Amino acid sequence: MDKYQKIEKLGEGAYGIVYKAQNRETNEVVALKRIRLDNEEEGVPCTAIREISLLKELKNQNIVRLYDVLHKERKLILVFEYLDSDLKKFLDSNGGDIDELTIKQMMYQLLKGIAFCHEHRVLHRDLKPQNLLINKKGELKLGDFGLARAFGIPVRSYSRDVVTLWYRAPDVLMGSKQYSTSIDLWSAGCIFAGTPTEETWPKVSQVPEYKRDFELFAPIPLESILPKLDPLGIDLLKKLLEYPPEKRIAASDAIQHPYFEDLRKKEHSAEHLSTAHESLYLFP
Ligand code: ADP
Ligand code: MG
Repeated sequence: MDKYQKIEKLGEGAYGIVYKAQNRETNEVVALKRIRLDNEEEGVPCTAIREISLLKELKNQNIVRLYDVLHKERKLILVFEYLDSDLKKFLDSNGGDIDELTIKQMMYQLLKGIAFCHEHRVLHRDLKPQNLLINKKGELKLGDFGLARAFGIPVRSYSRDVVTLWYRAPDVLMGSKQYSTSIDLWSAGCIFAGTPTEETWPKVSQVPEYKRDFELFAPIPLESILPKLDPLGIDLLKKLLEYPPEKRIAASDAIQHPYFEDLRKKEHSAEHLSTAHESLYLFP
């Protein structure tokens, strides 16, 4: 730990406190995440350390790099790549009004990150704007992945606030334990649109916490909530917000959706010219 000089506190997350810090030898700026353990007498469970250490191998342009895992006494400190901001701060600072191209570019990067996680059998389980980190180059990277497997899905944050459930798949909310990769695609749909709406879900009565007396809401067409989103975007959104988890689109298929056609073409020609991907400037 002496290797790092703390600069400032970045936030209090579901699992602990995050600091901006600098490596004293290399001057590299990183984000340190100190994980709080509920079971403090017993120290850090070795299964958690094993799980987390595996995440060091999860290297992708759209996933926040985990450089190191430091284990000292009863603390676990994760050393992450530092990014300038997160999507929640970005949305708040723009009053939620983001232009369509930026939305598309962010959605594409989000889905590419999810597809990579899923290919490597890692579920995120807690995708939401606060956990999506962005930088000045317009890159978006998934943060906080994999922790849920080691520590359980958070219900309360470090400061005891209730963690937002807005992005959680309905099957998970209602107690289904059979969830898989589909839970992350639901969250991606919510991030894309804002708030989920009601639609039919044939097997809903079989999930554990389904209640016969749930209040019934009339479905609202997505087109009317998102008048600015083009028909291809609406089509992708509907596929992400399928209630039956088995009907939800896979991340690998979502990145091939016609909505992203123009971005894929650009990506393709950029590869040919072997130039770095076109960056967009989010922070003037
Ligand atoms: P939560 O789980 O409540 O979303 P996190 O533990 O992800 O909280 O972190 C809290 C906040 O700290 C994030 O929302 C983000 O603003 C900031 N943060 C986390 N990791 C990084 C990072 N690698 N670089 C920059 N900021 C980060
Ligand atoms: Mg988080």
